[in-house]
Parts: sequence; C-alpha cells; structure tokens
Amino acid sequence: MSSALENLLQENRSFPPDPAFVRAANAQPGIHEQAEEDWKGYWLDQAVNRLSWFEAPQQTLDDTNAPFYRWFTDGVINLSYNCLDRHLDSSAEKVAYHWIGEPGETRTLTYRDLYREVCRFANALRSLGLKKGDTAALYMGMVPELPVAMLACARIGVIHSAVFGGFSAEALIDRINDAESTVVITQDFAWRAGKEVPLKANTDNAVARTPSVKNVIVLRRTGSEVAMTEGRDIWWDELVADQSDECEPERLMAEDPLYILYTSGTTGKPKGIVHTQGGYLTQVATSHSQVFDHKPDEDIYWCAADIGWVTGHSYIVYGPLTNRATSIIYEGAPNFPDFDRLWKIIEDYKVTILYTAPTAIRSFMKWGEEYPGRHDLSSLRLLGSVGEPINPEAWMWYQRVIGGERCPVVDTWWQTETGAIMISPLPGITSTKPGSATRPLPGLSADVVDETGASVPLGGGGFLVIDRPWPAMARTIHGDPDRFVETYWSRFPGRYFPGDGAKRDEDGYFWLLGRVDDIMLVSGHNISTTEVESALVSHPAVAEAAVVGRKDDLTGQAIAAFVTLRGQVEGDETLLRELREHVGSTIGPIAKPKSIVFTNDLPKTRSGKIMRRLLRDISENRQLGDVTTLANEAVVEEIAEMAASTSSEE
Ligand code: ATP
Ligand code: MG
Repeated sequence: MSSALENLLQENRSFPPDPAFVRAANAQPGIHEQAEEDWKGYWLDQAVNRLSWFEAPQQTLDDTNAPFYRWFTDGVINLSYNCLDRHLDSSAEKVAYHWIGEPGETRTLTYRDLYREVCRFANALRSLGLKKGDTAALYMGMVPELPVAMLACARIGVIHSAVFGGFSAEALIDRINDAESTVVITQDFAWRAGKEVPLKANTDNAVARTPSVKNVIVLRRTGSEVAMTEGRDIWWDELVADQSDECEPERLMAEDPLYILYTSGTTGKPKGIVHTQGGYLTQVATSHSQVFDHKPDEDIYWCAADIGWVTGHSYIVYGPLTNRATSIIYEGAPNFPDFDRLWKIIEDYKVTILYTAPTAIRSFMKWGEEYPGRHDLSSLRLLGSVGEPINPEAWMWYQRVIGGERCPVVDTWWQTETGAIMISPLPGITSTKPGSATRPLPGLSADVVDETGASVPLGGGGFLVIDRPWPAMARTIHGDPDRFVETYWSRFPGRYFPGDGAKRDEDGYFWLLGRVDDIMLVSGHNISTTEVESALVSHPAVAEAAVVGRKDDLTGQAIAAFVTLRGQVEGDETLLRELREHVGSTIGPIAKPKSIVFTNDLPKTRSGKIMRRLLRDISENRQLGDVTTLANEAVVEEIAEMAASTSSEE
C-alpha cells in the first residue's frame, strides 16, 4: 500500500446497548477512561485481583529489552491452579465442561472431575520424565482430554504446542521439529462429519521424521484399531491408571513460557508464537469477563472454535476456567448429522453466550434460516464473532436470525500474536455498528497510520498499529527472534504492526479492512478487499465473496471477484451484471469488479479463513504458493477451471 486506504463503505446502522443489559453489565461506563489514567496500574490491578498468585507481582511492564517486553516479572503463579484448585472450595460440583460427542454421546466434567483428571495426567507426564521447560505436542480432536493435557502441562511447567487435528502429517512434522517436542499426545481417531480421522496413523507418519520424540501417548476415542510401537507408544488410560489424584503445581515465574502456537497460515509460512504465564492469563481472564459479560453462576458459555487455535486456547480453556465458567465443547462438524446441530445444542443446554466465526456465519446463511428456525434459541443473550472481518450483512443476519434482535453482537479483533481480544465492543457500554470492532478495550491503545507512521485523521484508512505493549502479547517467534522483530516491529519502530488494514469513522470506531498484503491498487486508489466483499455480500443472492487485485495494463490492478451464492440461486450473465452494478452503486464505480467467477466454495485455511493469495495466483495464471495450510484443495482446481472459461470480462 503506497498511500492512505480508501474509505468507501458507509454504514449508518447503530445499536445502543439495552438499558437492562447495561445495569447488570460486568464492565460499566467510565472503565476505558479510568484505565487510561494509569494503564500499567490498571493491568496490575487486573493481575492481582483476578488471579491467585503464589507471590503477587509488584512490577508491571519491563521494557528494557524492547520489543521483547515482559510483564509482572516478579510474580509467581501456576495457571492450572488458577483454572482448577482455587475453585474447589466453592464450586467443586459445578460443571466445567458439557461435552457432546459427534455421534451423540455426552459427558459432564465438574471442576472436581477436571482437577482429578489433570492431576493424574500431570503425574503421568512426570513419570515419563517430562519436566519444566520441555515441550509436548498435542494433536487431538475436540475431546475433554485436550484441555486436560494442556492444563496438565501447565501444572508442571511443560510447554504445550497444540497442532490443530485437521492438519496432515506434513504440518505436524514441521511443528514438532520446530518446537522440538519430546512427546506427542494424540488419540486413535477423531470424529469429523461421520468419518474417522486417523490421528494416530498421521502421528506415526510424522514421528518417523521427528528425532526429538521419545513417546506417543494415545487416547482411545473411537476404539478402532491402531498400530502401537512397543517402547514408544502408550495408551492414555494405562498410563494414568496408577497415578495419584493429587499433583503439586509447579511454582512458575510470570514470564516462564506457557505454550507455542503456530498461526493459521493465511499469509504464508506459519509462525511459532510464544506466550507466557502471568500476563497472558491476566488479559485473557479480564477480556473474557468484560467482553462476554460472563456471569459464572448464570451463564452457559459456548466458544465454538477449535481448541487447536488461539481462540480455543484463550476462550475455551484458560479464560473461562479461570472465571469458573460452565462451557460447551462439541466434538464434530456443525452440519452433522444435519445443518441444525449447533442450534439443537443451544436449545438442549440453554446456551446463553455464543462465540463463533464469520466463515461459520456465512455457511449458516448459505444453508438457510430454516435450520435455526427449528429450535428455541431464546436462552441466548450475547453473540460474538472472531477470525475475519465480519461483513455488515452477515452481522445483521447473525443478530436477527440467531440473536432474535435481542442480543448484543461483539465483533472481536485479535490474533494469535496478541493472545487476547484487543479491539471489541463492551456490551454494556458500546453502541455497536454492523461490521465494526469499535474500539480498543480498556488499558489498550491502537491507531491507524499512513506509510510514514503518521496518524490518519478520523474518516480515513491505513495501517492498524498497536501503539503500546499489552500483557498477553507474544514474547517472540520460537527459534526466530529476528523474524519476530522484522515481522511486527520494524515497519513502524516502537509500535506493533499486526499486518491488517483499518479505518476509523467520525466516531473513532475501528473498521478492520483485511490484510494489507491483500489491498488492491486500482487507478491509484488503495481499495480494501473487505469493503468490496461486503458490498457483494449485501446483495441478497450472495452468501460469500472474495476479491483480489489482478495485474491490469490500464488500471494497474483490476478487481477479480469470486462469489458463492445463497441457497438455490443460479449464477448467470444477468446476475453478473447486476452484482457489478450493485457494487458500483453501493461503494462507487472505482470498486466494480472487472471479472466475477461464481464458485461453490472458496480456498480457505483449515481455520476457515479465505486465502486470497491463492486466488491472486489463479487470477494471474501463476504457480500456486504455499498450500500446506489449505483446507480444501479440490476447490482451487475447480476455481481455476471456472476462471479460465469465464466470459465475465467487461
Ligand atoms: P498467518 O499469520 O499465518 O497468516 P492468520 O493471521 O490467519 O495466519 P490468526 O492469528 O489465526 O492467523 O488470525 C489473525 C488474523 O485474523 C488477524 O490478523 C486478522 O487479519 C483476522 N481477524 C481476526 N479477527 C478479526 C476481526 N474481528 N475482524 C477482522 N479481522 C479479524
Ligand atoms: Mg496473522
């Protein structure tokens, strides 16, 4: 991007918080301003008041070795103690997780149950010789034993490195080798859409090429047969059988590493992000309480992400357990056995808070309103979104069809690197606008700048920067501190650059505009993918859209659009012209796509995000870039064929 980013999309709808919600909200008006008066003190207060420390910190931010910032360095803590032990007096019988298996069986784990499982497994890991500072790879599906394994690691100071269960052996090899994990914790198979995913067999293939691995621990999930290697592989149930129900938690320093997690690979080679203990838990617990307005004795909370991504780490495991939540974990696919599976779970368990992703919401829109319509969703009181910019029409759909026009919608911007939510409405304070993440949470600060680093006035767009440190921030990229500095801290020295574009409206609200690498330069105008895509999605025939800039002799780049239609709609020449006109009249003629291809699906990462760089490769007839994190390979070929045969050039 060479100059400021165009601000094309105007959104005038606004939803003030409901007075009844405001009265009872965890975060009350004035909190942003109060935190701003002494932001380091604010974070120290959160750390001391929300968490239990063996030794409470006195120090706040240590910036002596910037950008390798440290927080609460003199604090001594254990995260599994915060998630479990300290709740046992008051809440041992409270449900921590309601688990629903894909085939239909259910399990309920109280805080006491979870505590016992974690202690036993932590002892088991110790019996294999694992100790503080070692790394364990977790390659599992959505089973309760995944949080058990994470918390067991945290209990004894072992660093966990979770690898999403949808990844292949290749991706697992890279991540095990990069983190030098000495043990892999996996399961025989995982259920996904009625099929058994061979996690153990994938692990066997991987471990043949990962010299650091000494043991593989295998949970029996589906019970189908797998090969076990004598001396290396151990069944989970046999390993924990003789272990004690008690396990002394390790006393860890706030800055000891907690986990490594690889980014989802939308832009290229994943980065092994390192998070530490005290600052991470402080901000995760704070945001979980404030943003979701979570009430431990009333809410049934459901973050429907996968635990293998950062959203699951922070908002299925560490945040909710610290805050004594009762959560839902669902094992399988949202469309199994039918398209109403999530809505049935919400009805059955009277879920009050739902947190999901735009990619899922757009699928629900595509499948149609009849599926949520089959169930009573009136228990819901708050909805959240994360993962991509949410198109205003998807936001409105979510608010109307799922939220019954009753629930605040919080669009939360953050990333693996930030560890916790950064920009989001607070439901008792903020008037929301469809498609806007609104403003930084209390204690945090962000700006939108041009290429010289100067702040862009309200009403304009540019690069998003976080202009001061925050407790849950990534400490480094594992094994590659230079890449950490280069990627995030070199473009605007002293400030963190997340790689995303944004604009602010006249009220100072932030609107995320997608990744700056995807920004299109058309006739000298920098145009964000998000705004053109949102214009397309605001047409009633469109469920999902991706646009990219393709080389063009006349205009520098021309906009190429890929569009998935809703329900039964068929794409033809008439609709094509209509969509182009629709974009022209919604956000301006400059943004009209030059070509439009109708497609059944878009290339996505395994976390469900659109991978525009591959569409750019297709549009410019190039060899495809890195596809190891691509979820749906067949679709790329399909789109390439459609794009080649399309006659949609204007
Ligand atoms: P990689 O960094 O390897 O390319 P990734 O960025 O997709 O992968 P994540 O850390 O899972 O990996 O995703 C964070 C990114 O997702 C953000 O930088 C942003 O681009 C996007 N994102 C997340 N939440 C939102 C949101 N509410 N609004 C807009 N964009 C969002
Ligand atoms: Mg990223």
